[in-house]
Amino acid sequence: MNAFEALGLNETLVQAVTDMGFETPTEIQEKAIPVLLSGTTDFIGLAQTGTGKTAAFGLPLLQLIEVENRHPQALIVCPTRELCLQITNDLETFKKHSRGVFTEAVYGGASIMMQIRNLKKGVHIVVATPGRLIDLIERKAIDLQKVKYVVLDEADEMLNMGFRDDIDFVLKNTINRESTWLFSATMPSEVRAISRNYMNNPKEVTVGRKNSGNENIDHQFFVVPASQRYEALKRLIDFNPGMYAIIFTRTKADAHEVSERLSKAGYEIEALHGDLSQQQRDKVMGRFRSKNLQLLIATDVAARGIDVDGITHVINFELPDDMEVYTHRSGRTGRAGKTGICLSICHSRESYKIKSLERMINAKFHKVDVPSGKDVCRKQFFHFMEKLMDADVSHGDYETYMPDLIEKFADVSKEEVLQRVAALEFSHFLKYYENADDLNKMDTRGSDRRQSDRGSDMNGSRKERTSFNRRDSGYTRLFINLGTKDGFYKASFLQFILDESNLKKEVLGKIDMRDMNSWVEIDQASAGQMIKSIDGKRYNNRTVRMNEADGGFKRPNDEGGRSDRATEGRKRIYAPKERRSFK
Ligand code: AMP
Repeated sequence: MNAFEALGLNETLVQAVTDMGFETPTEIQEKAIPVLLSGTTDFIGLAQTGTGKTAAFGLPLLQLIEVENRHPQALIVCPTRELCLQITNDLETFKKHSRGVFTEAVYGGASIMMQIRNLKKGVHIVVATPGRLIDLIERKAIDLQKVKYVVLDEADEMLNMGFRDDIDFVLKNTINRESTWLFSATMPSEVRAISRNYMNNPKEVTVGRKNSGNENIDHQFFVVPASQRYEALKRLIDFNPGMYAIIFTRTKADAHEVSERLSKAGYEIEALHGDLSQQQRDKVMGRFRSKNLQLLIATDVAARGIDVDGITHVINFELPDDMEVYTHRSGRTGRAGKTGICLSICHSRESYKIKSLERMINAKFHKVDVPSGKDVCRKQFFHFMEKLMDADVSHGDYETYMPDLIEKFADVSKEEVLQRVAALEFSHFLKYYENADDLNKMDTRGSDRRQSDRGSDMNGSRKERTSFNRRDSGYTRLFINLGTKDGFYKASFLQFILDESNLKKEVLGKIDMRDMNSWVEIDQASAGQMIKSIDGKRYNNRTVRMNEADGGFKRPNDEGGRSDRATEGRKRIYAPKERRSFK
């Protein structure tokens, strides 16, 4: 008997994994599949990427789906759009001999209307990033009532990225859930809390090595055009309302300029730089230490010797030139057993630096999308609601004023009061982010700053701007459904795509090869030619698919692609002066 069959998988799925060259189940598959096939047992799998966990949950899910009921029966929630596409792609391959199971990938940065249209056709499994999922639920495009299975993939990552409220929301509202399957590389207390609050006597298994390196620090990076660094920084700050952070810049001028701009916009920030007198420096540090200042921005020289407890985030406004410096910077957080997050804002040509950093500090860096305007607003809203509920009303002479207040609001409903409170707190955020761009994939040429703080004009460091506009902004990323499993090495793959498209090597940037898929960076001007020459070609009896990566994913058998940019309705907006609150 085939080893996958012995785990309880049906013939069509066994056939698919055999076609993929899987001979024996991996450890997580062996431990998870029999449990998950029951459909009613909650499950926690402590497993990292590369352990075969996608098949461990994907195969049982495909077997449990009732094909005749074309509504969402399973939700797979994962942190990034790339993972979302990868999971969907894997599911497509697993179900190639199974008839009638439909899956849909939904993630930010792609046309939501297209996703709604596809969902309306009737799908069984939705693979989603948290922000877009909530957006679709709010628009009633996904009905949670009939969802039986919820899979949280890379749960620790989602929590690190600030999606806790979204996950809570999904788990609270899938009231007919029969089981919850949680996969995570680590088990911090926040993940434990999810299992405690929403899971029933889960079966827990651990496979593979535990994380190495400083396990307390999560390294994340964001790829944006250099001209959008400031806007990206602002989003990261807005998306993490409780953050207590040090932001590092390479130059004194940048530290000064960013801090000026953010303070004008109402943020509690001060810059530390060499021009300050000792007295001024002590004053700034005093405010920061006592948490009366939420954000400190500094150059490496100025920040020397700073040792502050409880810093939640270190932000690299740009990556340091010297890789050793990265370790020093990130080491300001995640101290004394606490967890910390180091966020780096990079542009596409810096990807190679990330690779060498990963090697140097022996830890994985996670590529994360800059949150959308909508994600930021939702996050702020949840945060505010929490603050409202936590407000201490046990002290103070409220009794005196209550009768007057009650009389004044006698004819106003609770809903209206809440709405007004929310409007007071949020109108500036909602207005600012109303038509916010997707910063993850913006061409700076011609687009300049769509969102700018009043009067201010900082557009990344001058040096970067020149080099960026000349080269980096012109790259786009293509997805192709060929990878190392198709017998390619990087060199032969390169040869293949260049020969097929009749293009020169110079048009290419980074090539990222995985087993089943690859991603190719290419000069924008040549992208069309490459897609045209390769998409639809046959390779080893398979149809090759190639399309723009971020949002332009096509299902095999799908007619036509999807619109891949969230550019609908973009317009220049006036940014009101913001008011910020911390603590
Ligand atoms: P994952 O951890 O799900 O990202 O999987 C890592 C890689 O291992 C993917 O490329 C899978 O196609 C591959 N893989 C998963 N299960 C097996 C298996 N049983 N045998 C061989 N390769 C596998």
